[in-house]
Amino acid sequence: MRKTKIICTLGPATNTYDMLAKMHETGMDIIRLNMSHATHEWADSMINHIVELNKHTQFPVGILLDTQGPEIRTGVRDSDLLLKAGDEISITVRDAPNVEESSIHINYAELIDDMEIGDHIAVDNGLINLEVLAKNNNLLRCKVLDGGKLGSKKHVNLPGIRVNLPAITQKDKDDILFGLQRELDYIALSFVRDAKDVLQLRELIAQHKPERLDNIRIIAKIEDQEGVKNLEEIVKVADGIMVARGDLGVEIDLAELPNTQRRIVRLCAEYGKRVIVATHLLESMIENPIPTRAEVTDVANAVYEEADAIMLSGETTVGKYPLRCIRYMDSIARATEPKQGLGFTRNLRKNSDKEHLAATAVELADSLQAKGIVVVTRHGVMANYVTNCHPQRCPIFAFTNIGVTRRIMTLNRYLYPFKIEFSHDPEQTLARAFTELKDKVNMQSGDKVVVISDLLIDQDSVGIQIRYLP
Ligand code: PGA
Ligand code: MN
Repeated sequence: MRKTKIICTLGPATNTYDMLAKMHETGMDIIRLNMSHATHEWADSMINHIVELNKHTQFPVGILLDTQGPEIRTGVRDSDLLLKAGDEISITVRDAPNVEESSIHINYAELIDDMEIGDHIAVDNGLINLEVLAKNNNLLRCKVLDGGKLGSKKHVNLPGIRVNLPAITQKDKDDILFGLQRELDYIALSFVRDAKDVLQLRELIAQHKPERLDNIRIIAKIEDQEGVKNLEEIVKVADGIMVARGDLGVEIDLAELPNTQRRIVRLCAEYGKRVIVATHLLESMIENPIPTRAEVTDVANAVYEEADAIMLSGETTVGKYPLRCIRYMDSIARATEPKQGLGFTRNLRKNSDKEHLAATAVELADSLQAKGIVVVTRHGVMANYVTNCHPQRCPIFAFTNIGVTRRIMTLNRYLYPFKIEFSHDPEQTLARAFTELKDKVNMQSGDKVVVISDLLIDQDSVGIQIRYLP
């Protein structure tokens, strides 16, 4: 069974029920709705597809809503603007009078105040680079460092500048409130700059849908220098982190990106948080039927690092080969996982008795070469504790009696979630779990599993048992 989960961003190439069913069959564990592009109507129909699909699948597909965040873009153009290295151009933020044809508009009113002479502006994910030569009230004069063809509404990054936009914009709020009314498991918050941003999202959920606080996981996207600087504080308060390498690769020194990825994965392992490695994993497959050697190695690297999940973006939104991409992700993960990973969880901070017990259960199951670790969990907390220890040999089979809990566990590395009825009699509950294992994952009578649960004794104590399937 594969350990690493696969997240696919949906788009025009992947928006039908049949396609989603095929993607899941091929290995997709979670869908991502990118609200930078999706309308509510479209997102709604994708969620409905997944809800329907989940009625027919053995393991559910989770749903992740990704906010646009405080994003800056260039304006709409009638035609592409050709920029050559060495050119000088003007940038406007408001309607500036008498600017030449070749000026660029950027939709951030405070740009001119924020920038200093010599600062850089990266456009279109860093393909076009500008340097500020002079500024006045209405415009910035810039030199083109790296030229290119500028189309409409291209992404703008201001490396090292703290953009004075709210962490959760009005659009983000509308999108989040929309999501809270629907089936939803994860909210990914873009450009998280400090822990307060995450707390603000939690507060927003508490205000509007307090009953969902327990069953929505917050993923903080680290994509700029501020986020990296405040990483540890952010990791402490978020449920998980996305290494958002698209923006991060423009906002920080590109040569530092691998170090930063590794540091994020290591900290998440230490604090027991989920972690997603995202963007450009199989980028060339947007056009090509096979990945580059470097991409295969990059996917394998994320697996060695023991990330919970690897994510596809353009590869599945607009790419020509979405299913082949998932197949490659799946096969690279399966080929790599049997090798010893980096094992960052050896530094896992364990605060409670339950966390220590979870670590013991994992060690026991691995050394007994048990067929699996059975976790009985209501809200997924104990399942997280077990996941945090990264079992090497034993998959985690998590049993909950709550449907939403089942889906928020889809991100957990090497975890397979089930829903069963719980009984007052713990033996009854376990019997149901064992029946599921025999019916659904090919276990047999006599197979050995390690069980960890607080239902075995009473609410406050947790027990570990070695059991043989009846
Ligand atoms: P995005 O985030 O795709 O929403 O920009 C991911 C990234 O920046 O890598
Ligand atoms: Mn981004």
